[in-house]
Amino acid sequence: GYRKGGYHAARPGDRFADGRFVAQRKLGWGNFSTVWLAYDTLLSRFVALKIQKSARDYAQAALHEIELLSAAAKGDPTNTKCVLQLLDQFKHAGPNGQHVCLVTELLGDSLLRLIRYNRNKGIGLTRVREICRSVLVGLDYLHRELGVIHTDLKPENVLLVSTINPSKDPARAGFAPILDKPEGNQYNGAAISFSEKMLRMRARRAVVKISRRRESLGGVMVDLERKRSLDGVSMKCKIVDFGNACWADQQSAGEIQTRQYRAPEVIIGSGYSYSADMWSFACLVFELATGDMLFSPRDCQGCSEDEDHLALMMETLGKMPKKIASSGTRSKDYFNRYGDLKRIRRLKFWPLERVLVEKYNFPAPDANGFANFLRPILDFAPESRPTAAECLKHAWLN
Ligand code: ADP
Ligand code: MG
Repeated sequence: GYRKGGYHAARPGDRFADGRFVAQRKLGWGNFSTVWLAYDTLLSRFVALKIQKSARDYAQAALHEIELLSAAAKGDPTNTKCVLQLLDQFKHAGPNGQHVCLVTELLGDSLLRLIRYNRNKGIGLTRVREICRSVLVGLDYLHRELGVIHTDLKPENVLLVSTINPSKDPARAGFAPILDKPEGNQYNGAAISFSEKMLRMRARRAVVKISRRRESLGGVMVDLERKRSLDGVSMKCKIVDFGNACWADQQSAGEIQTRQYRAPEVIIGSGYSYSADMWSFACLVFELATGDMLFSPRDCQGCSEDEDHLALMMETLGKMPKKIASSGTRSKDYFNRYGDLKRIRRLKFWPLERVLVEKYNFPAPDANGFANFLRPILDFAPESRPTAAECLKHAWLN
């Protein structure tokens, strides 16, 4: 955490880039960074400020992220391709070291929050379709136009967009910027408790309003700041977090993707391409629709998480063709020469469409349409998976 080489501990009122950006409150964090709502005093707008951990590897990752996001912004001057827009960058010297900072457009809640706000019951297929379209537009742009593989697509790395953008219209968004550190730049004693009390009070008020409005929105939650502009909620979203993304022709060896969204070719070590993002996309879409992760492997007695993961895939999708199972550098760790898993012998086949009906109570026609969309993306053969552009043309979305 907050130590040498680690996160920068920011407080509301802290200033960055020679005073231009004023920290408001923390929006989120990941393994690499903390992300703050900040006010841009030069252009009078709210932005998101990603403050990277300071150790050299993290700084390098941030510079790499800047390189990719710059390329993405260049190819998308009208900002319609569903990828986070980079606005600026600078370095900030703090007690824990030098932090690379990215200034980006301000977005709303992540899909992970959306799933949680809906108490893990799924968000309804109409909204799932809406989100699918945005994410696919983003992936198609990354894959076909930029030659970039995201490699870490998951609900927390896709953020909702509000049609009323508080960064342009703070008054309507219902809040004024904090421009000073509370109580004479002191963070001790009364000053802290005063500012914290204010923040808490504001948050409490906002929660009451939101819970009243929640019904009319069918359970869709939006960022606290947007409490007065809930009518502006669309299901448009954007892909964020390019900290692990790579140019397809310059990929690093080794493991990519967050466990539950990891493609089979990555597990068995047979190389990956854009189609690995498509696998993660299918996992993400299933989760939006049902509130549960498609695959959540564990290590069990005598078998690894990897092997459990492969078993779960085969229970839902059928047996992995022997040719594919034996094609990776790690195939021999998991499979015997017949192409069966070495340590997990009895698989209970429960195909996707039946899972949707029997476990999640989808009406049969819904389950059928949805499974028709997802099933081809979950092909064990990466080259057989549809591309993002092909998915956009699928009947289920149109
Ligand atoms: P990391 O590389 O550390 O995972 P991310 O870029 O994923 O960092 O950001 C971490 C979290 O911060 C996100 O999951 C999200 O909740 C929040 N966040 C990031 N960028 C923005 C943004 N532009 N607007 C609003 N929230 C953001
Ligand atoms: Mg992240």
